[in-house]
Amino acid sequence: MMIVMKEGASKAEIDAVIKRVESVGAHAHISAGELVTVIGAIGDREHVANLGLEGAPGVDHLVPILKPYKLASLQYRREQRTVLEIDGRRIGGEHFATIAGPCTVESREVLLDTARTVRDAGAQFLRGGAYKPRTSPYSFQGLGEAGLRLLAEAKAETGLPIVTELLDSQHADVIHEHADVVQIGARNMQNYALLEVAGKLGLPVLLKRGLSSSLEELLMAADYVLKEGNERVMLCERGIRTFETATRFTLDLSAVPWLKLHTHLPVIVDPSHATGDRRLVEPLARAAAAVGADGIIVEVHGDPEAALCDGPHSLYAHDFGDFARRVAAHAELDGKRIA
Ligand code: PEP
Ligand code: MN
Repeated sequence: MMIVMKEGASKAEIDAVIKRVESVGAHAHISAGELVTVIGAIGDREHVANLGLEGAPGVDHLVPILKPYKLASLQYRREQRTVLEIDGRRIGGEHFATIAGPCTVESREVLLDTARTVRDAGAQFLRGGAYKPRTSPYSFQGLGEAGLRLLAEAKAETGLPIVTELLDSQHADVIHEHADVVQIGARNMQNYALLEVAGKLGLPVLLKRGLSSSLEELLMAADYVLKEGNERVMLCERGIRTFETATRFTLDLSAVPWLKLHTHLPVIVDPSHATGDRRLVEPLARAAAAVGADGIIVEVHGDPEAALCDGPHSLYAHDFGDFARRVAAHAELDGKRIA
């Protein structure tokens, strides 16, 4: 339930509503706009409805949110889209951003070379995993904290904010120290305890869609982060499991316009993991921009053949500049500005 307060409702009136919402075990999520405060009452719908808040002092009207996700819904934000601003770069609304870098931080040299290349080609963020969720326990698992330190060095040199994955809550402090955006990987989209930890960290969160998760489930996962008071969340379509095996996953491009109809959160697309094949990355990145994505996240490597992880879909660093220009042209056609 959304409780829309009157313009100019007093703090005492707002506090009284919060107290009543909490008295039935519901969580009150406050969204203070310029003119109007909206209180999201997250909990048992009947209990909240029975509070009889219509007509309470300072309350303008109530709006039931019928969807299973609440805070992520476009309705909750009263049709106002979230634009994330991170280190002066914007994602969402009319701003299109490119996040690029190696799958995994492998070495100082590869990381710094790639970071310089993507920065020079106009990427806004550097990606790189220090803790990797590998399907096989025998595959390279990432450099851990040493990898995070290398990312910090790359940021110091290029100025690019860092996007890196939080794999386990035990890494929360060290991720908090080095990341600018916390990525929650597809395999952890339904790790609810981890989503709450990410929400509490206070950094922007890039939430990837689970391999077999519906879009409603993705939005409910986003609510786990948002309910911790962290409003800086972006969603990422990265391909889902279908019967098709020609590509690594099936990129669900319809997710982008569907999400735009239902959530205020920015939506980005990962054509790299979706396809597993670098030859498909550019056409799908362009398509993502054309259907209204707010950005892309792509893997880039100076020498993909030697990459320790995901070489087959990593773009050659020397191709990245042309790639980024062609994708930007599609984003501009859709009315976006490059962040
Ligand atoms: C990644 O971006 O490094 C990654 C592992 O992606 P996903 O969680 O989508 O598989
Ligand atoms: Mn990867």
